Amino acid sequence: DPRIHGIRTKIRVVPNFPKPGIMFQDITTLLLDPKAFKDTIDLFVERYKGKNISVVAGIEARGFIFGPPIALAIGAKFVPMRKPKKLPGKVISQDYTLEYGRDRMEMHVGAVEAGDRALVVDDLIATGGTLCAAMDLLERVGAEVVECACVIELPELKGREKLNGKPLYVLLEYY
Ligand code: IMP
Repeated sequence: DPRIHGIRTKIRVVPNFPKPGIMFQDITTLLLDPKAFKDTIDLFVERYKGKNISVVAGIEARGFIFGPPIALAIGAKFVPMRKPKKLPGKVISQDYTLEYGRDRMEMHVGAVEAGDRALVVDDLIATGGTLCAAMDLLERVGAEVVECACVIELPELKGREKLNGKPLYVLLEYY
């Protein structure tokens, strides 16, 4: 799809952020270009429209940028998957391991119900731990995860292999 190349040119790579040696994929420059941003959303919408997805689960923080326009366009509810102590209501939480250390993800109780068909959205998959935690939360409340969707995959980190066979759709790979 010719739109993918246009999207790729708008993503900025910032070396040594947030730590020395990390090549940070920065999607904020993609958001500055309405055509490339719209193409990004359209590609996801074209894939998921008509697939009976009832919930788009967006991962803090950049899943909050891409998730809602997809949810609106396909007629699904949007549910934020947040860092600890941000959600005001009763939550269920999932601990997960990062490259260095641990973190926790939280979701409001009642936002997702048994039988919901979920799409998990984030900007980027690296080791896959973050998407895994989101899938765990959704499955714990009885939802079916249909697919995970990211703008960017870092294939060298093999995050895809961590998803227990769940399909992952990405627009671009960065080596
Ligand atoms: P993982 O859990 O190792 O797959 O890391 C993915 C999470 O870290 C996602 O929520 C991403 O937003 C974030 N992340 C890791 N590396 C980058 C990057 O280069 N750019 C933007 N986000 C990143």
